[in-house]
Amino acid sequence: MDDRMEKLISLCKRRGFVFPSSEPYGGVGGFYDFGPLGVELRNNIKRAWWRRVVQEREDMMGLESSLIMHPKVWEASGHIAHFSDPLIDCRRCKFRFRADEVPMVPGTPPACPQCKSEDLTDARPFQMMFKTFVGPAEDTASTAFLRPETAQGMFVDFPVLQSIARKKLPFGVAQIGKAFRNEITPGQLLFRLREFEQMEIEYFVRPDDAPRAFEEWLAFMRDWLRVCGIAEERVVFHEIPDGERAFYSSRTVDIEYQYPFGQKELYGLANRGSYDLERHAAISKQDFTYYDQEANARFLPHVIEPTFGLDRTVLVVLLEAYHEIEGGRTTTTESNKEVEVVLKLPKEFAPYKVAVLPLSKKEPLMQEARRITQELRKRWMVAYDDVASIGRRYRRQDEIGTPYCVTVDFASVEDHCVTVRDRDSMQQERIPIAELSAYCGSRLPV
Ligand SMILES: [Zn+2]
Repeated sequence: MDDRMEKLISLCKRRGFVFPSSEPYGGVGGFYDFGPLGVELRNNIKRAWWRRVVQEREDMMGLESSLIMHPKVWEASGHIAHFSDPLIDCRRCKFRFRADEVPMVPGTPPACPQCKSEDLTDARPFQMMFKTFVGPAEDTASTAFLRPETAQGMFVDFPVLQSIARKKLPFGVAQIGKAFRNEITPGQLLFRLREFEQMEIEYFVRPDDAPRAFEEWLAFMRDWLRVCGIAEERVVFHEIPDGERAFYSSRTVDIEYQYPFGQKELYGLANRGSYDLERHAAISKQDFTYYDQEANARFLPHVIEPTFGLDRTVLVVLLEAYHEIEGGRTTTTESNKEVEVVLKLPKEFAPYKVAVLPLSKKEPLMQEARRITQELRKRWMVAYDDVASIGRRYRRQDEIGTPYCVTVDFASVEDHCVTVRDRDSMQQERIPIAELSAYCGSRLPV
């Protein structure tokens, strides 16, 4: 049995990447807290994505829309009518589960996954949007929903964005933000959460340009998987066949990953046609058309939608980066023959870029190490560690994926040089302290 998930969960908690929310109260299913390293990893992934999606592109703009929107938005989007999972209750043990979690064996009645009882309720739709109230009255008129996706904010804002951007088609909007789904069975660490974060794009095109734009974003998504260090052999591009797509979509590709617990969705790419803009135009009675100046004509653009779950990205990036080395890699210093863990994170994503390790706690060596740390901190997140043997400190940094370790030793005070060790090659180089920032800068992504 593959125990990578258990090992990763343990590392994530022990080193402060991610752990269950509200732990003193027993946690709450599907909600997680990101610790000091997790928040850095997450921010680095978001920045890397934003840079490629917004900063480096002429045809894209950013947006941060509100988490709670007018309830009519969810009527237009179809979420109020259709965003539900089939829910079944076991009458014997009271276990509640999704209908698709029960293996259907032809000729035998469905049974409870927990107690095997066949005394089950019929499947009934369970609304997955979190409900709340806006204002002091708790009645139907004030009912609101926490958004179950970031996409609708970008559709609803299309008329205003169009006039702000003054761009010709094709152009797009990107958004990174939280969304909420009351999943019946959250689980597998960050795979299925009730509070999660999405990185989404709505790319508006002329109808006849949609197939080209689809291919372009598919290629972008392949590139992004490489940026994340995700091996292509564990990714499946699943073309959704006719009859299984949403009725308005002429093409959908699910990008699936072979998790330790099975092949499941990671990202998605869909041609949504003009469905969303059409719906919002119909329900709001406002104009959602694009004005084509040259042709002096108005029409509804089509939409290509690439969706990236941030939490699943964090999970897969960690799974791909996790490496164990039996007996350790060290040959020069003391080898304790333990299993060594190296987190081979893309440098761009590593929570700490550099760690400064003074060889001894004596002055003036400590003072010099502190000074170097403060200097490097102007540019990067830098760890400082003066506890335990140098071998143990290297391993602590390897385990959290720090690309460079800088050792300050007794000679450093005399020759003004330090030793820089590379996480992956374990090569060590003697570098003048004055050149350290430039040395790291040339080896770390912007
Ligand atoms: Zn049961």
